[in-house]
Amino acid sequence: MKILVTGGLGFIGSHVVVELLERDYEVIVIDNLSNSSLEVLEGIHAITGKKPEFEKLDLRDKSDVQDFFKRHAAITGVIHFAASKAVGESVENPLLYYENNLNTLVYLLQELQDLPQAHFIFSSSCTVYGQAEQLPITETAPVQPAASPYGNTKQIGEEIIQDVCNIKPTLQAIALRYFNPIGAHHSSLIGELPLGTPQNLVPYITQTAIGLREQLSVYGDDYPTRDGTAIRDYIHVMDLATAHVVALERLLNHKAATNFETFNIGTGTGSTVLEVVHAFEKATGESLNYKIVARREGDVTAAYAHTAQANDVLGWKAQYSLEESLASAWEWEKKVRSKE
Ligand code: NAD
Repeated sequence: MKILVTGGLGFIGSHVVVELLERDYEVIVIDNLSNSSLEVLEGIHAITGKKPEFEKLDLRDKSDVQDFFKRHAAITGVIHFAASKAVGESVENPLLYYENNLNTLVYLLQELQDLPQAHFIFSSSCTVYGQAEQLPITETAPVQPAASPYGNTKQIGEEIIQDVCNIKPTLQAIALRYFNPIGAHHSSLIGELPLGTPQNLVPYITQTAIGLREQLSVYGDDYPTRDGTAIRDYIHVMDLATAHVVALERLLNHKAATNFETFNIGTGTGSTVLEVVHAFEKATGESLNYKIVARREGDVTAAYAHTAQANDVLGWKAQYSLEESLASAWEWEKKVRSKE
């Protein structure tokens, strides 16, 4: 079975490509290398002993997308990661985000909608829930007005897929709403490579511990939480990778209840920023220089997943602990810096 992974050289995509290759799927990767590099292919090869087919292609080019599908008629499933993901940048340049995250989705769906059968997995996000009224967050929690153009692209993306699925029963889709992906493959041959200053907590922690950043800023200690810092659900990227394969197989095996489903992908456990800092220190033996600063605009107080749907319906459950995830992020950071 040939699976197309768009954005397959990025952080999450590369881990999913490894999982697919290890389960003997044939994989073809599209990436425009805007936020990744060809070296990732070497890492995938070193882990799996296999190299996926690769095409450097920008999905914003509609004729290139059409041409790609003409040349690859035998694709059985598509996992669509390619997107821009920096929240702050999306506020500064919304059209870049609407073009890159929505045009690309439309062009892909235009190719898939008339196939006799198409299976499509979409990278969505827990940002669609904003600050949910009830915790843990279930899939039926209302989608809140988006706090950024990036978040809006995930909401609109889901709506676009739903609209197409409504008229095309041959299109089978699942949107996975990720909570906070962290960590790296245990080999440290692939991992997260943020450009510039990391916007997410864990790469900021590892870059601070390695001495690349002076201090970690903890945004706000006056949230109504157990220690005043914000709560998130941190999930190991390998657990996330497994979730994609399980979701894909749900579609390939015709197990889906409807032709558009959404699942939360998280551990179900919320951790405060300070708990993550201390778990990192415990897991790695490193001590972390941090200071409390003012809240950051747009951050919600607490978000963690209700995982019953993922566990019972999808048949997937996170396996890694927070400390294991943080230790793998640290091993990756050390490996990356040792090469510089
Ligand atoms: P990433 O930036 O590491 O990977 C995205 C990949 O897509 C990159 O390799 C990039 O070069 C490629 N790409 C971007 N635009 C493209 C285009 N027009 N054509 C072809 N390739 C293109 O990001 P990631 O963290 O792996 O995220 C993957 C997906 O998951 C994204 O859709 C993101 O919005 C979503 N997501 C990520 C997180 C997170 O915290 N990392 C959380 C929720 C959802």
